Amino acid sequence: MATPFTEEHQLFRNTVRQFCERELAPHAVEWERDELFPNWVFRRAGELGVFGAHYPEQVGGAGGDYWFSVAKSEELPRCRMAGVSMGLLVQADMATPVINDLGTREQKDEFLAPAIRGERIAALAVTEPNAGSDVAAIETVARRDGGDYVIDGAKTFITNGTRADFVTLLAKTDPQAGAHGCSFFLVPTDTKGYHVSKKLKKIGNHSSDTAELHFEAMRVPARYRLGEENMGFMYLMQNFQSERIIGCTSAISSGAIMLDEAVAYARDRKAFGKPLIKREYWQHKLVDLTAKLEAARALAYRGAAGYNDDKYVAGADVSLETVKLISLAKIFTGDVISEVADQCLQIHGGWGYLEEFPIARAWRDQRLFRIGGGTTETLRYYVAKLMGL
Ligand SMILES: Cc1cc2nc3c(=O)[nH]c(=O)nc-3n(C[C@H](O)[C@H](O)[C@H](O)COP(=O)(O)OP(=O)(O)OC[C@H]3O[C@@H](n4cnc5c(N)ncnc54)[C@H](O)[C@@H]3O)c2cc1C
Repeated sequence: MATPFTEEHQLFRNTVRQFCERELAPHAVEWERDELFPNWVFRRAGELGVFGAHYPEQVGGAGGDYWFSVAKSEELPRCRMAGVSMGLLVQADMATPVINDLGTREQKDEFLAPAIRGERIAALAVTEPNAGSDVAAIETVARRDGGDYVIDGAKTFITNGTRADFVTLLAKTDPQAGAHGCSFFLVPTDTKGYHVSKKLKKIGNHSSDTAELHFEAMRVPARYRLGEENMGFMYLMQNFQSERIIGCTSAISSGAIMLDEAVAYARDRKAFGKPLIKREYWQHKLVDLTAKLEAARALAYRGAAGYNDDKYVAGADVSLETVKLISLAKIFTGDVISEVADQCLQIHGGWGYLEEFPIARAWRDQRLFRIGGGTTETLRYYVAKLMGL
């Protein structure tokens, strides 16, 4: 496959890389310890055009194609905190694509444009205490009342959730209709009845904030509904595709960083009289892991190419063929990245088990990838259906 990246993509890639290496990575220990990265990171990323390279110029983006988003996702792991990377990807590729796809001019001006500038922090609020993979089982209800909707319910695991300025929220507008009864809303977090119940303590991604939310008689004007009523589940399935590719390319890039570090460590570390890297065992292991990472990248790029062709070239919805490729990429990448992390920790021996070595953090952080944005199991179930099995 010819590389999809042009000189423009490379320039953008360099900007993101420098931002990560110079302005973010030096704070890794502090922000991981504090379990939060500061809000200025969103504003600075906005200034640099990190969020908007793939969004149209009319909303303040740079009007680029989807490969800009892929390039960004590959560079963000260089900040060496999966939590920061994830917080920024939620802003650019998870909470906002649905606004770009469906939003009215007013909605884009009020929510999308300031999110692209990094002035308003966004979160995607779908998962609930009683409904994760089974999105159609959500229990948050939005009841129409005159010119408003009144929303009651709860959400959990919401990234950027403790400090978001608005959430892109999925609720039931027809509780009897399952998947066909969900709608999307844009909810400013200063709306009366919106509450952050608690900040969740996680085993990894420490620098990102993850929250549980609840809503009590929260009145949201009907003009904040995104798209058509009861079409939210279909919109979410489209929205998931971008999230999943970007998750893959970002995870693969983290895996490549882990491999580089494993090689560097194995060159230095001697056991039984010679460096570990001179052992055929580790040479072959590192070759195999490199092959698997490259295979994952090739599959993820095929998914990204499908996404770019469907959405950016044809201006259409993501096709089922592309959805299948993206789902396969996420399944495969999940298994590969877990193996890469595990073996890269193993080559460090006991030192890999210490907090002071970045591999320890990377090993913990990568575990989320097989869970978030669609678990490996539910994606297998979905692809089996697409294959007519
Ligand atoms: C750190 C973090 C950040 C997150 N950020 C966000 C966010 O910003 N916004 C948001 O909305 N959500 C977010 N999530 C939620 C995430 O998307 C969900 O955790 C995920 O979708 C899985 O849902 P669940 O945790 O309820 O697991 P469940 O759906 O309860 O699944 C539990 C297990 O059962 C398996 N399973 C489920 N169905 C089947 C089946 N039919 N057959 C076989 N096995 C099955 C699953 O694969 C999984 O292994 C985040 C989660 C985490 C941990």
